[in-house]
Amino acid sequence: MDFWWRPVLALSALLFVTLVAALFWGGLLALWLLVAGLLAYIGYNLRQMAVLVAWLAHGDRSRIPTASGAWDDIFYGLDRMLRRQKRSTAKISAVLERFEHAAQAIPDGIVMLNGNDQIDWFNPAATRHFGLDDNADRGQFIGYLIRQVAFADYLTSHNYSEPLVMKSPTHKELTLSVQMVPFGDKQKMLISRDVTQLELVEAMRRDFVANVSHELRTPLTVVGGFLETFLDMPSINQVDFHKYCDLMQQQTERMRRLIDDLLALSRLESAQNKLLDAPVDMTALIQSLYQDAQSLSAGRHQITLTLENADNIMGNVDELSSALGNLVSNAVRYTPVDGVIDLHWGWHNRQLCFSVRDSGEGIDAHHIPRLTERFYRVDRGRSRETGGTGLGLAIVKHVLTRHQARLVIESKVGHGSCFRACFPKTRVVKIAVAPTSPLIH
Ligand code: ADP
Repeated sequence: MDFWWRPVLALSALLFVTLVAALFWGGLLALWLLVAGLLAYIGYNLRQMAVLVAWLAHGDRSRIPTASGAWDDIFYGLDRMLRRQKRSTAKISAVLERFEHAAQAIPDGIVMLNGNDQIDWFNPAATRHFGLDDNADRGQFIGYLIRQVAFADYLTSHNYSEPLVMKSPTHKELTLSVQMVPFGDKQKMLISRDVTQLELVEAMRRDFVANVSHELRTPLTVVGGFLETFLDMPSINQVDFHKYCDLMQQQTERMRRLIDDLLALSRLESAQNKLLDAPVDMTALIQSLYQDAQSLSAGRHQITLTLENADNIMGNVDELSSALGNLVSNAVRYTPVDGVIDLHWGWHNRQLCFSVRDSGEGIDAHHIPRLTERFYRVDRGRSRETGGTGLGLAIVKHVLTRHQARLVIESKVGHGSCFRACFPKTRVVKIAVAPTSPLIH
């Protein structure tokens, strides 16, 4: 009724005027009046329609055309509809923008595929993982862009319950875990995750287990062999018996050292094991390491100690003693008889360093970056012969890292090596301990 009352009223008024005209002026004139009235009514509506069409086509949407009667309602209604639409478009744009930002921030790659496995959309991480090009690759079949047999098989298998681990087609150093997730009407989402670090850790874990097993198997085989000999020869003479027991003891000692070092490493790596800091009397510690070096060398080397500085370190005395002790014992173990070993405590390049310099065989440059890896040895035979576990420098590195210190290795084949543990200024404490003047033994 809201709409109809105006046209009904206008037409009724026209009819009424026509009737009055017929009564006073006669039928013909009244008919002309009716036709003229109807034409005016139709003309008015056509004109408003033209205004509406023009406004819809090119008009300024922020201003509605002025009209009267039912057309005013129509324009007003249209205006309200447009405003509502504008508001919901703005809302949808904001949501889309948020989604776009979120998708760009996600570290995982996302590629949206249509029913024909053609690319609809992808995020920047997918660009990195698969080398996709924003302009050229939209609409392309994903199988053309990732040309790997394993991926092609995965795509056509339609079994996407497990992810596929593959190398990135553009960055060979990247290992990706990719998984297809079907959704909607035959659409798919390809999600890729960079698992390079995880793979590396997994490979290290495998190597570690293999190394430990290998290290333990050799002494166990020796001990087992001797025990078998005892069983086969119940009447073994005392001299042989002692000799074999001695060898077995050496092997069990080797296993014990290995297990001790493994436990030390595990403690150092444990997240719960926070570093318990206290001022460490470095002069006393280094002097005791010097004594250890003397007894380990048993007079086979010429060993000197220079304490150039009486400053001390905030740290854990047990950990520091084990780490610096490893550097000292390595120098003794890898320096031939009559070689020279210098222990030095003092400032070097604005850091407080404990240096162990030896005149041993030296290490080829390509080994140096790998020396702190677990079980990495330059000379496997010499390491075993001298009771090495292959874990000493790994322990050193862990301990120094926990003290924000670093290990610097300088070496030249045929000229010896220098292992230097350098502590940052922030770790240095000046407490009254031991000698203040250089002390040379
Ligand atoms: P290991 O128990 O075998 O000595 P480390 O981790 O202490 O294990 O050392 C790793 C390797 O580094 C050793 O096997 C040895 O080849 C080399 N190395 C360490 N210190 C020295 C040194 N002072 N001179 C020569 N080579 C060394």
